Amino acid sequence: MGISCRVPRSPPSLVWDPPLTQRRNIHINDNVLHSAYETGVQKVVSCLSTCIFPDKTTYPIDETMIHNGPPHSSNFGYSYAKRMIDIQNRGYFEQHGCRFTAVIPTNVFGPHDNFNIEDGHVLPGLIHKVYLAKQNGSALTVWGTGKPRRQFIYSLDLARLFLWVLREYDEVEPIILSVGEEDEVSIREAAEAIVDAMDFRGELLFDTTKADGQFKKTASNAKLRRYLPGFQFTPFRQAVKETCAWFSTNYANARK
Ligand code: GDP
Repeated sequence: MGISCRVPRSPPSLVWDPPLTQRRNIHINDNVLHSAYETGVQKVVSCLSTCIFPDKTTYPIDETMIHNGPPHSSNFGYSYAKRMIDIQNRGYFEQHGCRFTAVIPTNVFGPHDNFNIEDGHVLPGLIHKVYLAKQNGSALTVWGTGKPRRQFIYSLDLARLFLWVLREYDEVEPIILSVGEEDEVSIREAAEAIVDAMDFRGELLFDTTKADGQFKKTASNAKLRRYLPGFQFTPFRQAVKETCAWFSTNYANARK
């Protein structure tokens, strides 16, 4: 749940409205958690994000570090609003024994994503761009240098983990839902996986006038691994392939 954080692009996107995003998230937090308390809901799983962590931090980030310092200036209001979910979860547990918790997924992608080029996240944005570049016989333009690194999680894997959290995870403390640090890829590698999956033969360009954003936000999945040592993540290239196939098949109705 929540209104997602978006880093301003060039030109800034219309969805970039920090005070509005902050207020809406605060309202969602309070409405959902307090209604859940009042109506006796047994379990609430809220969704945080790795972009709410302190800007100045050591890597990998883990669940104990959320409140350790100011977030990145591009996400200030959003991050503090989301951090408050963790504070409220603790409060409802201490005061009323409520089992409200939070998960922290890394970059999610998969079928039914927002494939809009201007305000979608990198993988769906690039999938849409490759689709159009193939049609038009033009180059693929990747924003930034391609050097930033990200951990991507396939939406189907995340959905399985969400159900596990709902049914089995008993802590109030949040848990990071992510592939391992060794599975972090550069934006260039992610673009190349899409190029291969869609059999794109055109040129690959990097527009360095566009922002790179945070260089990395490497997260530890050690806590998740302690609970679920055998969980199998879908291999990145396979998940990209399935997402590209879904987008091509559902182009007419995809969110874009
Ligand atoms: P976030 O920075 O982790 O919130 O994730 P994003 O998905 O918005 O973008 C991550 C990185 O991908 C940034 O370094 C962008 O510059 C880079 N990037 C490259 N091409 C694209 C694109 O077409 N769309 C988006 N959204 N990001 C892109």
